[in-house]
Amino acid sequence: MTTVPRYTLNNGVTLPVIGLGVFQTPPAETTSAVDTALRQGYRHIDTAAAYLNEREVGEGLRRSEIPREEVFVETKVWVSDYGTNETLHAFEKASAKLGLDQIDLLILHQPAVGIFERTIAAYKALEKLYADGRVRAIGISNFTPTSLPRLLGAVDTIPAVNQIEVHPYFAQRATQAANAAAGILTQAWSPIGGITFYGGLFGGPSRSTLNDPVLREIAAAHGKTPAQIMLRWHIQQGRQVIPKSTNPARIAENLDVFDVTLREDELARIDALDTGTGGGPDQDQPQPQFLQFQIPEA
Ligand code: NDP
Repeated sequence: MTTVPRYTLNNGVTLPVIGLGVFQTPPAETTSAVDTALRQGYRHIDTAAAYLNEREVGEGLRRSEIPREEVFVETKVWVSDYGTNETLHAFEKASAKLGLDQIDLLILHQPAVGIFERTIAAYKALEKLYADGRVRAIGISNFTPTSLPRLLGAVDTIPAVNQIEVHPYFAQRATQAANAAAGILTQAWSPIGGITFYGGLFGGPSRSTLNDPVLREIAAAHGKTPAQIMLRWHIQQGRQVIPKSTNPARIAENLDVFDVTLREDELARIDALDTGTGGGPDQDQPQPQFLQFQIPEA
């Protein structure tokens, strides 16, 4: 079984360099995916209230019989739960669904720029949960070089992580630099470019990162797959990764990346694939439609 190296967050808490993502993992497949991953050596699961599978993540954790303290569980508060009391209640919902008294990392899913005062209130609620020991670390997701300084100017606790879209076609270097300058770990979502193919946003499968000629060439040279090469690229550049899969062979493949090291010129060739365009929504624009989606009670 693979033992995964760890990063140390800015409050001293550690987490594995690779975790399992469960966005779009149907609830009926989530328990099995989490159990499979934990048995293979994963020790970090990234879910969210909005993925509607926190309950099944908790079931997978219990089914694996891995001691609770060995697994790092991360979840996200959805924007319709932003506000002081709303976010404190969002923790209670997540805690009950996961079946966990304490959550390792609780983050804001995205900035709600149209109602930024509620985003700040939500983050202050995370600070209270942290002070009360209900969560071991707090953070953010999808914050930009515009929204990050607005948050940092209004709160006391530097986020431990900022989880953002990063893959070879969208490097977000300015956001990565802003994270690093503040001591925030960048977590890469869609680390193997899932959004470049499941969303069809880059022109369908032929423009998928998995079919990229440069990545395929580097992969062939190392006897690895393009997905494994992308994960190495992230890790060698200091990003934490959370590839999603429900397929046991691909769950294993995504953890089998510790016997290869990319050269500087190979890292540079992957860096050069950046298109400057991402697949997610513009996080500097208000997204009122997201506020319509309500997170069910536990
Ligand atoms: P990924 O880059 O992880 O790609 C996932 C896709 O790739 C799935 O279609 C999966 O299918 C497939 N896949 C997985 N492993 C392999 C492999 N080795 N070879 C070929 N195909 C593979 O994209 P995600 O967008 O899912 O991002 C990962 C995680 O990041 C999410 O699950 C979630 O936890 C988080 N996330 C956070 C967001 C945010 O706003 N904070 C937004 C989006 C994601 P299959 O399951 O069939 O293997």
